[in-house]
Amino acid sequence: MLKIPKSHPRFVSLSIREKIVKGYNDGLVAKEGLLAHGRGEAFDYLVGEKTTRTAKAAINAAAATLLSAQSPVISVNGNVAALCPKEIVQLAKATKAKIEVNLFYYDENRKKKIVKSLKKAGAKQVLGTNPRSYRRIGGLDSPRRIVDKDGIFAADVVLVPLEDGDRTEALQKIGKTVITFDLNPLSRTAQTADITIVDNVIRGMRLLVSACKKSKTVKTNFNNKRALSSTISEIKNNLKRRGSLA
Ligand code: ATP
Repeated sequence: MLKIPKSHPRFVSLSIREKIVKGYNDGLVAKEGLLAHGRGEAFDYLVGEKTTRTAKAAINAAAATLLSAQSPVISVNGNVAALCPKEIVQLAKATKAKIEVNLFYYDENRKKKIVKSLKKAGAKQVLGTNPRSYRRIGGLDSPRRIVDKDGIFAADVVLVPLEDGDRTEALQKIGKTVITFDLNPLSRTAQTADITIVDNVIRGMRLLVSACKKSKTVKTNFNNKRALSSTISEIKNNLKRRGSLA
């Protein structure tokens, strides 16, 4: 793993990139996941590489929703497993959520490695690898339609960080409340989810864990469309401040 000097002006961003590269070298991240990360990095620049006011409000709404859920599930892919395995385990504990591995670029071997890495981070149980528990959800052609009967299939609230738009829609069609992390406020996932946290999952997941641990979160009238539009205003303001649109 490349050692980035702390004095480097892009230290944080480059260190996150190294985590993804390590995840790829360890067999957790798909090649395509590296590209998806690049798209995320570009949008992180636009939001100013910090958690915006709107993202904080989305995190509080997500915490309240997860804490009041009957059967919450955290859906994990390779990028998320590489970036924040400990936070996933902490979030599962704080919200009594189950963890399920679900991959767009399906690979049984990669799935097993992700499960192993989550267990190493402290997860007791990780769903998504027992063929006897597999169930299909409708409206999807990708392998992501296969879910665990005791996990996503039975869930009322599903957290799907770094998701694709089709599955967000398919999950909603079968009555699930969908929460996502997506740095691109224009993606189909961001536009379709019930709660979109437009923040880098590496920053936002930590904040979500803290909000859930406080467990005092009161359900607010969160409106995702309004939040996305306010995120776009925050991006515009950030660009103006930096002189790009002066
Ligand atoms: P959609 O189908 O929803 O339009 P897409 O095709 O853009 O999505 P993918 O290629 O699956 O989606 O990419 C994943 C999404 O995750 C991208 O929108 C990207 O901006 C976002 N993303 C990537 N890395 C991160 C990260 N670290 N934190 C938050 N979001 C991220």
